[in-house]
Amino acid sequence: MNILILGAGGREHTLAWKLKQSPRLSNLFVAPGNAGTAAIATNVPIGVNDFEAIKECVLKEKIDMVIVGPEDPLVNGVHDFFLNDDALKEIPVIGPQKAAATLEGSKQFAKEFMMRHNIPTAAYESFTAETLEKGYAFLESLKPPYVLKADGLAAGKGVLILNDLEEAKAELKTMLVDAKFGNASTTVVIEEFLDGIELSCFVLTDGKGFKVLPTAKDYKRIGEGDTGLNTGGMGAISPVPFADSSFMARVLERIVKPTVEGFKLDNLPYKGFVFIGLIKVGDDPKVIEYNVRMGDPETEVVIPRVKNDFVSIFEAVANQTLDSIDLEIDERAATTVMAVSGGYPEAYEKGKEITGFDKVSDAVVFHAGTQLKDNKVVTNGGRVLAITSYGPTFQEALKKSYQNMEKLHFDEMYYRKDLGFDL
Ligand code: ATP
Repeated sequence: MNILILGAGGREHTLAWKLKQSPRLSNLFVAPGNAGTAAIATNVPIGVNDFEAIKECVLKEKIDMVIVGPEDPLVNGVHDFFLNDDALKEIPVIGPQKAAATLEGSKQFAKEFMMRHNIPTAAYESFTAETLEKGYAFLESLKPPYVLKADGLAAGKGVLILNDLEEAKAELKTMLVDAKFGNASTTVVIEEFLDGIELSCFVLTDGKGFKVLPTAKDYKRIGEGDTGLNTGGMGAISPVPFADSSFMARVLERIVKPTVEGFKLDNLPYKGFVFIGLIKVGDDPKVIEYNVRMGDPETEVVIPRVKNDFVSIFEAVANQTLDSIDLEIDERAATTVMAVSGGYPEAYEKGKEITGFDKVSDAVVFHAGTQLKDNKVVTNGGRVLAITSYGPTFQEALKKSYQNMEKLHFDEMYYRKDLGFDL
């Protein structure tokens, strides 16, 4: 089977690495890819939202299946583009159609979906510039901290959590009236603050059945002790120790089943990954957000723990035969630590040579923002690479990730040394 993966991060390198292990794979392409995917697949210099160029590549390379890594092309309707094109409509796309991708593209849509299907989440109301005064009144009715969310995609920056009522009101006005996040904040969702510990649950569905993949916890802040600015993710651990079997049984019954049922009831065709951002409040799970694709860096610990052949898994998703597959999960813990460019998530430099790959042992390096230049691997983004290791416990796995991190080098390389501190 010939497969094309869309994306360029650690998530896509991990998916490529996993697919590469399948005897059923013929040719693997990644668009646009990075230096890591270049070593195991053919990179094609195409942007993930350039649907016409993707079509040309799919036809030219006789692609049998497309796996979509990031949310952008899904929210922009890449799956629908395939279904509406006579030359492409028989080629399966892993990732939901635009209608279901709106679960990530609009927080109001996601909240309404959860309400409709009785899925536990924070109480909320949504507002526009016309209902600003009602928004102020709603804020006054809540206790701090106040949670303000731009409805649309805002690159992970559209959520504000504020302690002061006046500041919350001022921010609400800036979002709605002064378009702080452009069109993304034309509508703002105001939510009840939930106090708990977060984790991520990953589900793969073919629209009929589903499989729950291993849980993971990621670390979003740049600084140790979860301080400083938000990033795309500084590392992850799987499984999550506090997500024991009784907690996961509640997640299954109260959240996963009604979510997949909800797709059917609402006529939202869905073939792909569902990333459910959860918060454990007391003993109860509540949904913080849905994403319509795998997380990054969670992919780097979740996918390596699934032992099954992923060509067969994706084929079962396409053919709606996922129920016939038994997942085999590696009992070991997996951890990944992300190395980033100095200065990230603010301004940083690119083009720094990365050395030491040959010294890494008993771990896998997944490339994120890297590029091949004059036969050297150089940095090409804020998040540069992740080192995944296994161990009988997450502490032992982490130790290996860190030991290997010391063997790699690039100018102004930074990584957090305290992952798992809260577990
Ligand atoms: P991401 O960067 O994960 O894509 P996002 O911008 O889509 O995030 P959310 O996931 O909805 O937005 O919120 C971002 C973060 O804000 C959450 O991971 C969580 O830490 C915090 N948060 C969101 N909603 C709440 C809430 N109701 N109570 C407490 N914390 C919240």
